[in-house]
Amino acid sequence: MTAYNATVLRTVRITPRMLRVTLVGDELRDYQGSGLPDESCRVIFPGPDEPRRVYTIRRRDPAAGEIDIDFVLHEGGVAATWAVGAQPGDAVVLSGSPAGKYSPPPDAAWQLLAGDATALPAIGRIAEGLAPDARAHVICVVEHEEDRQSLPNVTVDWLPATPDAAGPALAAAVLAYGCPPGDGYFWVAGEMAAARDLRRHFRHTLNLPAAQYATVGYWRHNAEEWEARYSAVAPTITTRLESAESIADDEEYFDAIDDIHAEVGL
Ligand SMILES: Cc1cc2nc3c(=O)[nH]c(=O)nc-3n(C[C@H](O)[C@H](O)[C@H](O)COP(=O)(O)OP(=O)(O)OC[C@H]3O[C@@H](n4cnc5c(N)ncnc54)[C@H](O)[C@@H]3O)c2cc1C
Repeated sequence: MTAYNATVLRTVRITPRMLRVTLVGDELRDYQGSGLPDESCRVIFPGPDEPRRVYTIRRRDPAAGEIDIDFVLHEGGVAATWAVGAQPGDAVVLSGSPAGKYSPPPDAAWQLLAGDATALPAIGRIAEGLAPDARAHVICVVEHEEDRQSLPNVTVDWLPATPDAAGPALAAAVLAYGCPPGDGYFWVAGEMAAARDLRRHFRHTLNLPAAQYATVGYWRHNAEEWEARYSAVAPTITTRLESAESIADDEEYFDAIDDIHAEVGL
């Protein structure tokens, strides 16, 4: 894990609820990313306990030593609050190792990119890298019409939902989309419960091989309430969670974690 010092160069409100923060720093010239369009990094914010959150790298310009991060401006939260008040010269640290899961089979007949507002930076970067004939469709849940963004090379269904309802709306829309003919590829990112349910759908209902889908939980609805419930059951599941660590296959590992969580009502 490498750490990179950076400062805010500028901020731009790209839609009412999305703020683009351009970071700059000599160390960013050597940022070691995966190069995948959904690559992410940890942002370490100033403060006594150095809070950190994961964000997508929306744009990287090694020659200029710049990285763009698009922050969803939701209620509360260290990161969203920091972004709203960010001023040129403010310091943050990025840390990370090569990350990202977008990896469609080269001969994919179609792609579905689905997510909520937090997935828009990755979807935007993925779309920009696609050929116009890639046969890629986007399903994106945003709160208001003004939260939509222009996305090249894809067709888009925008669905309105408040953040509280974003997870269920995303899950329902992807289930309703079904699975078009031919070997395609699903990429889903957004609220944790939706990402978890859709992973199980792809693997256990559609019986897709792992190469044909990627799901990533980006944020948790009512995180504090979930964490309180987790703390209450942690002593009873810690040993089982630890023993799941020895499962080598990623999908089998996620199945095991889902099962343990489901048993205790998480
Ligand atoms: C790989 C990856 C890439 C990501 N990329 C991006 C990105 O490019 N842009 C982006 O905005 N986010 C992105 N996220 C999501 C981001 O990390 C979370 O939303 C994070 O919780 C925000 O931190 P915070 O300090 O603002 O809020 P927290 O302190 O984590 O949470 C405070 C409260 O806000 C709620 N909350 C958290 N996020 C949201 C939200 N988006 N909408 C509504 N309520 C929320 C929580 O439930 C909690 O109640 C990504 C996450 C991952 C794992």
